[in-house]
Formats: sequence, structure tokens, C-alpha cells
Amino acid sequence: MTRGWAGGISLTAWSCGTGPPSGAAYAFGIDFPEQLTNTNPPNQWFRVRGSAGRMGTLNPETGNWKYNNMAEPKENLQMEKIVSLCKRRGFVFPSSEIYGGINGFWDYGPLGAELKRNVKDLWWNAMIRQREDTAGLEATIIMSPAIWKASGHVDTFADMMRECLLTKKRVRADQVEPQSGTVYRWTGAESKTSGWKSTKNFAVLLRKGENPESARKKAREFYAQGSIDLATDEWTQLVLNGESTATATDSIDFHPESCAELSEARPFKLMFKTYVGPVESEDSVAYLRPETAQAIFVQFKNVLETSRQKVPFGIGQIGKAFRNEVTPRNYTFRSREFEQMEMEFFIQPDEVIEAIYGSVATVPATGHPGEPQPNWGWQAWHQYWVEERVRFYEGIGLARTTLGFHRQTPEELAHYARACTDILYQFPFSKKDADGNVAGDELEGIAARSDFDLSQHQRFSGKPMGVFDEALRTAWGKLPKEKQDDLWKRYYENRKKYLTKMAKPDETPEQIQKQATEDANGLAKGQYIPHVIEPSAGVDRLILALLANAYTEVAKTDAKGRSETNVVMKFHPRVAPIKVGVMPLLKNKPELVQKALAVRDLLRPWMNVYYDETGSIGRRYARQDEAGTPFCVTIDFDSLGEKPELLDTVTLRYRDDGRQERLKISELRDWLLAKIR
Ligand code: ATP
Repeated sequence: MTRGWAGGISLTAWSCGTGPPSGAAYAFGIDFPEQLTNTNPPNQWFRVRGSAGRMGTLNPETGNWKYNNMAEPKENLQMEKIVSLCKRRGFVFPSSEIYGGINGFWDYGPLGAELKRNVKDLWWNAMIRQREDTAGLEATIIMSPAIWKASGHVDTFADMMRECLLTKKRVRADQVEPQSGTVYRWTGAESKTSGWKSTKNFAVLLRKGENPESARKKAREFYAQGSIDLATDEWTQLVLNGESTATATDSIDFHPESCAELSEARPFKLMFKTYVGPVESEDSVAYLRPETAQAIFVQFKNVLETSRQKVPFGIGQIGKAFRNEVTPRNYTFRSREFEQMEMEFFIQPDEVIEAIYGSVATVPATGHPGEPQPNWGWQAWHQYWVEERVRFYEGIGLARTTLGFHRQTPEELAHYARACTDILYQFPFSKKDADGNVAGDELEGIAARSDFDLSQHQRFSGKPMGVFDEALRTAWGKLPKEKQDDLWKRYYENRKKYLTKMAKPDETPEQIQKQATEDANGLAKGQYIPHVIEPSAGVDRLILALLANAYTEVAKTDAKGRSETNVVMKFHPRVAPIKVGVMPLLKNKPELVQKALAVRDLLRPWMNVYYDETGSIGRRYARQDEAGTPFCVTIDFDSLGEKPELLDTVTLRYRDDGRQERLKISELRDWLLAKIR
């Protein structure tokens, strides 16, 4: 069976009985590789994630979804329409489509590429160019594998998976669909023909109305696997031992397709592996980066020294990341290749702030805390970045009401993290709670990661990652003894806690205490390892949010009473792929065409312009509405001076309400620039 995802819908669904429409459905024929390990890393590392996907097929002609055996909920109809528009208008295409696609990989078409570029430019401008306290970085995708050892990814970047004991298919442990029915259990099986016997336990869930013989057939197949030739009749004659039944309600112990029992959860590694150089050996293993952040940590010192920055300051990067996601889903939401926009904002530990400023500033628990202040501790900085990021989203058209927030609970937080707030967007596929409220799915996470990352790289590389702060050294000397002792002790305890948690097997408690003592003594001399606040956003998820947010259907009735529904993509002008459509009223009037081309050329160096002279003006407006172009200008006979007072003016049309007004060509560029910047 072909396995695959597109538009959030699993294409594993042939088993649901509908079968693929003749030659129609996308079949992204990539299965995730065999890669279960028995290591048992600490729970904190596993990324707990969840959002529902549904079974179905995608018609490549129309881009429409067909759901299997399930009622079609409205919210997925919405996704269906968005996916269809994206294909039809060239926002997003399945990667490698003519070869059947590849699961979890997506290409951006002409409009999508512009949209994406705008989003990344806006992020870069807001986070790097418009700030005094940040700097940019562009690092390689493949880096030393030692980085991923230090960061913990090699050992622990994994999802918990469960395997179907019958079909060997895997499903994410937190995404097993609950099922109800009668559970048939057996304690073993034997062959009367050969005397072969198994004493393994096995179970199958039988849904209401299904024949118990189908469960027994699955059980015989399970017991025969690897022991009895399935091509002969022997396996169909197996005697099943110890059959018992029980009722199950909402059980998550059975595979949603085969209904056979699932194994215990085990970790599945998410990093893509490759080899560097001509020899494929363990020594040449490298990884495609699963996040852009680590490059920032390892280049921290180089950036600090070359950018003339001083803590607090941030380093930002935009770039590709790769994760061998077990179940890519919800269209581009969970892809295997995607882009991130990450900022690591380095700050002074609270002990340093207290030493220099006497105390750490308190800020109101909610809302934007205002301009950064020198005495801010990690809490103020964390809140600041959450609110800054919300402002960014508001500035590109995602109103606060479309967002949600999830503050990770102490159980969810990684052991080194002090806080993490996820900014969510209410996607059409986001789940509703019992009261019908939608929280949303993650767009961005803003984490207060303590000094974990730099500390890890310091220990693994042997290169110092700390900074020297003259203000700290001076302030320390003036502190009363009790204050010095108090700060020293707190810093010591924090370092000891980290060093103990991440101790290598051969490190003794004495060595850890010695290191923590050295670190705390360093504080007294003006040295410390910066802490970090990390706002980490996904480009592709933001694009999907912008597409969902912009998608609007407008019903129109013409003079003859015929109604039609047009799609208007209401992008904020800042992100819109095309900023302005330029059109001569008629294409067979050279004077109109000439003037329209002159307007196009006037605007082109400043923004993305689309020139269109074919079809009725109404059709041309509708095409731009679908592309999300916020403004259209039409060059008509008045522009040529038919009414002398309107010479060298154009008709400017607003996408969102069809309003029109007259504007001088000489004012057009600045008028548009004010709207799109
Ligand atoms: P999730 O829990 O949804 O998998 P995460 O917490 O693992 O996300 P991070 O490691 O914090 O994600 O990555 C930062 C951002 O990168 C996420 O907020 C998201 O926008 C984006 N991102 C992560 N994984 C993917 C993916 N597979 N496809 C697209 N974007 C992703």
C-alpha cells in the first residue's frame, strides 16, 4: 500500500475500502525508514505534539480532497478549498509531482515564492535590520556532527512511536486514534500439521458489526509471520489458543487501519543522516540540521567579536531545517523539509543583573513590558519577546484574535528551560475543545533556555563560551559580603544542577562540585555564560496561516441573476505576493498600452508589479483578487486626457471592497510604498 500525505490527509486510506480513483490520487510513495532504537532518553526531550489528520485522496485535476468513509467536517472543507486554490494559482505544489510526489516535501510556485520571500524579508527587517541589539548569520546546513552530539539531538531527538504487531506500520504514540469495539485476545497458536507452536500474546480489536472470523484470520497471519509459509495453506489451519474477549472503549492500543495490537512506545530518530566525503562509514556520518539554532550557538563568540555587540544582544538566522517527521500532516504544517526563522537573544543571568543593578526589574504579568531596560531579567525578556512576536504577526495581518497561546507546564518543559510560550494560529484543521473553542496549532515557540546551549558547547568543544563583563566585576567588588555570598551560592547551585543533569558517565560528584565552584568564582571576577531567549518560528507554517487567514469567498450575483462565488485572498499588503496590478483599459489602443507599460516600469524597481492586458477588466480584477493583489491601477481614456483635468491620473481599485479612486501617476509610487512597507 502506498503511504503518504498531502493537504493534511493521509493517503494510506485505501484500506478504508474506497480504493484510489482510477489514476487520480497522489501517491507520495515514501515510507519512513526502518529506524527504531531501544535507547530510552529522558522524557523531556521528546516533542509532544498533536493535531488531527484525516484519511482521504487528492484529485490532481481539481486539487480537491475526497474523504474516506467519514462525514466531511466544515473545517477540512476549508482546507480542501485552500489546497485547491494553492495548486490552481501557483502558491504551493507537491514536490516531485510528476513522479507521484514525495511525502512531506512541498514546492512554492510563483505566487508562493513571492509570499515566502516577503515573509522572510519582513522577519529579517524586524528582527535584524531595524534593531541595534541584533546581528544576522547564515550558516551551513551540514555542520560538524559533534554539534548534534552536544545539543542532544543525536541521542534524543526523537518521537515516541508504536508499531502495529501485524503490519509493522508505525504511528506516533500521541496520535493513535481511539477506537471502540470488542477485543479478541489469544495466548498463542499451534500447527497440527507440523507441530509448530507459539506462546506469544496477541490481540485484535473488532469493530461493531464485523465478523469475529476476520479477527481470527488476522491472528493466524500474525502467528504465522516469519515461521510458516504464507503461500501454503498451513497458516490458515493454525489453531488459536486461549481466546478471550473484552469490551474496549476509546482504546489507543490498536492500529487505526489494521485494528491489530500496537507495540509499546519506542523512540524514532528524526534527523536525516548523510555521509561527507567519498567513504560511507561511521566516521563520515553527518546530519542535515534539524534546526537553525545550533549554528548560532556555535558561532556565538565569532559574532560577538566581529559585530561589536555586547550582551544583551541577539543573533538571528533564516534557513532550511530537516526533520524525518513520522507523519507529515496538515498540508505544509508538518513537513520534512521546511524553513525556520530563529533568534537567539543572549541575556545576562539574573545573578548578574542583581549584582550590577541591585535587583531584577519586575514587569506586569501580561502585555508588552515596553522598551528593554538594563535591569531586565529573563522573565521580562521572555515576555518582551512573546509580545514583540505578536506585534509582528499583527503587523502582517494576523489579528490577536486569530492567535492562541500555550504556556508550557512544568511537566512539558525541557529540564533546562525556565519557560516556553507557544504562539498558536487557529488553522482550519485545529481541534476544538469540549466547549467548541479552538486554541490553535504552533506557529512559533518562545523559550527561555537558561545557559544550557552555550554550556553544552563549551563542555563538548572545550572552547570557552562565557563572556567577561567589566560592569559586573566592578559592581561585585562593591557588594556587601552577604550579597556576594548569596549571589555566589545561587549561581553555584544553578551550575551544579545543570552539570549534574548533563554529567558524562565518568564524571564524579566531586568533579561537578569543583567545576560549579570555578564557575561561581568566575562570576565574582566578571565572567558568566549568557542565558538565552529563543523566539523560533516556522516560515512554512506562517505561510499556511497567512493563506488560511486571507482566504475569503465573495458571492456575487450578475445582472441576469446568476450567482457565482469568487475567491479573494485578503493578504496584508506587506506580505501580498503582487503589490499592484497594472492594466490598460483596452489592449488594442496603443496609447493606453504605452502609458500602462510606462506606469509598470515606473513602479517595477520598487515593488512586485503584474502587468495584465488580456480579458475584460472585470476578469483581470478577479484574477488579481485570487492572487491577493491589494491594489490595481487602470489606465483609461481619462489618463490620456479625455477629461483634461484627469490627464496622467489612473483609476486605483482596492481589492477588499472594490472601491475606486483617482490618483496622479506622479504620486502613485509613494502612495503604494506607504501601504506596502
Ligand atoms: P511541533 O511540536 O509542532 O513539532 P516543535 O516544538 O518541535 O514543533 P520547534 O523545534 O520549536 O518546533 O521549531 C520551531 C518552529 O519550527 C515551530 O514553531 C514550527 O513553526 C517550525 N517547525 C517545526 N517542525 C516543523 C515541521 N515539521 N514542518 C514545518 N515547520 C516546522
